[in-house]
Order: sequence, then C-alpha cells, then structure tokens
Amino acid sequence: MSKPKVATVWLEGCSGCHMSFLDLDEALLDILAVVDLTVTPVTDFKDYEFPEATLGIIEGAVANVEQLEIVHKLRKKCQFLMAWGDCAVFGGINTMRNRIPVEALLRRGFVETESTVAGVLPIHEELPALLSEVLGVNQVVPVEIYVPGCPPSPEAIAYALREVTQGRIPTVPAGLIHFD
Ligand code: SF4
Repeated sequence: MSKPKVATVWLEGCSGCHMSFLDLDEALLDILAVVDLTVTPVTDFKDYEFPEATLGIIEGAVANVEQLEIVHKLRKKCQFLMAWGDCAVFGGINTMRNRIPVEALLRRGFVETESTVAGVLPIHEELPALLSEVLGVNQVVPVEIYVPGCPPSPEAIAYALREVTQGRIPTVPAGLIHFD
C-alpha cells in the first residue's frame, strides 16, 4: 500500500511550528517511514504546485493575498487539512495588527518609526498585498484537525500525524497541548 502523501506550508508565522516538527529528531524517521512528504519548506520547494495528498498541514496565519491563494490551492488538493500552531488555528500573535488600518500600519512600521530615515511604504506589484485583517486558516477554508500551541510540542505533532496515518481524525489530548 502506498504511503499517505503530506504537504506542508509556512504562511504568516515564525517557522517555529516546523522547527518543532524537526525537533522530533530520530522519531522523525518513524514518521517518514509511514508518510511521503511532498511540497514542504523542509524540502526547499520553489513553487506551490501541490500534488494530490491525504493531508495538508499549515503553519501560520493568512495575512496577504498570496497566502490566501496558497490556502485555497492546498485545500483543493488535500483530503484533510491540519492547522499547526496558534497562528494557523486562530491567527495568533499576528492578529495584533487587526485593529489598525493597513496603510497606517505600514506607515508606522516603515516610515514613521523614530529610527527610520527616508522610509518608503513597501507597496509594489511584486509584493503580495496585505489583507485588511489577519485570519486563522478556518476563516478561509474548512480545517479538520487542530494542533494548537506556540509552538505545538513535537509530541503533539507526532500524535496527530500518527493518528492520521492510522485512518483517524485526531483530537490532540489536553496533556499534549500544555507545557508542564
Ligand atoms: Fe511561530 Fe508560535 Fe506562530 Fe508557530 S504558532 S508560527 S511557533 S508564533
């Protein structure tokens, strides 16, 4: 039987969720024995042409038009979506900007800060435009599996992945989403 295919993406986040995945260390080998990683930052992919997959995993919130497109593309290709970490689950720390209009936000960050000299607004056709609000993934597309935490622990990530490989939609136990 072929292994389930898994794609992962890193949107508006710090990469900490993928780092937590890599922190599985040698247990990663057990995971990779039962899944095929396809498009993922771990393999340094260069485009977002996702193959059909059992599972799509999203780290990070949806904050700009490019990320919005990626989420829709991934959703179309995957049977299940898994949100890794608080940014993907509900927007996380990125939502601190949601009360500020985008232009005021950019102006403050790139032009008006006390240390800035001759700043310019980062608005260009090659830069993806910011959405007016940062969104959790489930505000854009349906999500079946949530692995909260900032970052989620390697054990929580491993639990969720193992459950999927055994044909179950996991609910991560409370004991795995609280740090002692
Ligand atoms: Fe980084 Fe935490 Fe967001 Fe994961 S949930 S991307 S660790 S800020």
